[in-house]
Amino acid sequence: MSFNQLGLTEELLKAVAEQGYSKPTPVQQQAIPIILDGKDVLAGAQTGTGKTASFTLPLLQRLFESINLHQKSRRIRALILAPTRELALQVVESVQTYGKHLPFRVEAIVGGASINMQIRNLRHGCDIVVATPGRLLDHVEQRNINLSQVEILVLDEADRMLDMGFLPDIRKIMALIPKQRQSLLFSATVANEIKSLAAQLLNNPVEIAVAKQNATADNVSERVYGINKEYKRALLSYLIGSNNWKQVLVFVRTKHGADRLEKQLIEDGIRTAALHGDKTQGARNKALEYFKTGKVSVLVATDIAARGLDIDDLPHVVNFDLPQVPEDYIHRIGRTGRAGASGEALSLVCPEEAYALAEIEKLLKRAIPRVADTGYEPVSLKVIDAPKKHTPNKNTGKKDFRHTKKPDRNAKNSKPAQDQKRKPQGEKRRSR
Ligand code: AMP
Repeated sequence: MSFNQLGLTEELLKAVAEQGYSKPTPVQQQAIPIILDGKDVLAGAQTGTGKTASFTLPLLQRLFESINLHQKSRRIRALILAPTRELALQVVESVQTYGKHLPFRVEAIVGGASINMQIRNLRHGCDIVVATPGRLLDHVEQRNINLSQVEILVLDEADRMLDMGFLPDIRKIMALIPKQRQSLLFSATVANEIKSLAAQLLNNPVEIAVAKQNATADNVSERVYGINKEYKRALLSYLIGSNNWKQVLVFVRTKHGADRLEKQLIEDGIRTAALHGDKTQGARNKALEYFKTGKVSVLVATDIAARGLDIDDLPHVVNFDLPQVPEDYIHRIGRTGRAGASGEALSLVCPEEAYALAEIEKLLKRAIPRVADTGYEPVSLKVIDAPKKHTPNKNTGKKDFRHTKKPDRNAKNSKPAQDQKRKPQGEKRRSR
């Protein structure tokens, strides 16, 4: 199928051709005609499938079809909600890219940026707003924004918004926009809570599923390195250096851990930047820009900061720490192997994380292949001390590995071997 068969206007086809896309991705093939038809959509599509274009292209066309060229002032006709600033800014970029031959103005309403500038831009008028819920509500409270004319609502990465505790904010926002509207809900996973949100927000939606639920991209090769915690950093530096990796996204659990690893990798001579929620928006944008343009080869990020990052052809993702919730494993490795490219996702797993790994594999319903020779003493990733009870995370209600008891440090295999040393560089290593 080609883009020409989807019913898109010339202006949009031109913009798509300028991006070099040869054919629509599966989610685009399914969603675009339905959205053009004015129907509500519930789409289970993970990041990297081309989902942003699948709602942006028909949204622009729907707005264009009913544009009133005589109306002098602009009104907000489409509202796109996203969980993080980075994702919102990327959606804005997509709207600008695909809408470059159309007369619409788009505004990003996200935290971490100057509210006064946003107020000025809103006064100036715009047709499309892409927002994170919190900052949008700040503007609502200050009466800077009028959402009463919204015709199309999009919730992007809705599962993540629920994970981040945005449900009350979403409810408040819903009360401000017209009931008569077209609504589109995109989510990587369509679990029960998404279904119930969809039942409240959508009107007789057409359901689309392009990725198997809880599936990871087929073109991503995954591997687990069993390694004691204290050697993770050395192994990471070795993997980056010996393979001459140029673009690696490394996930860590905490902001502090991100800063520490950034510093250590720089000490190892690897150009590295860190991305996490404690950095200013300016610093976050700069880190991302450096990574995209190749000024740094490694971006160390926490889950929240990395959510929705769209970097073309990202070849390597490393889980330096396993995520706190198993679903995040899927989101993380979705950063590679995007739009059909192949990618590699490695997890450095210490015995303390054996339980988290087991939970991820349970979710995936398959085992992740282990690397037999890591260059270090082998460690066991057998679950020795599974927690008896999980305390659900206060905000998400999901199981949270933070409450996992650490295994007994004296237990067999959990203690680093005395003479655990990296093999000399020249020694034969596992072939790639
Ligand atoms: P998304 O799932 O929206 O995050 O998109 C993932 C990546 O796929 C982005 O870099 C898009 O630019 C790219 N993309 C979107 N549609 C296509 C297409 N039809 N062909 C090739 N790449 C695409």
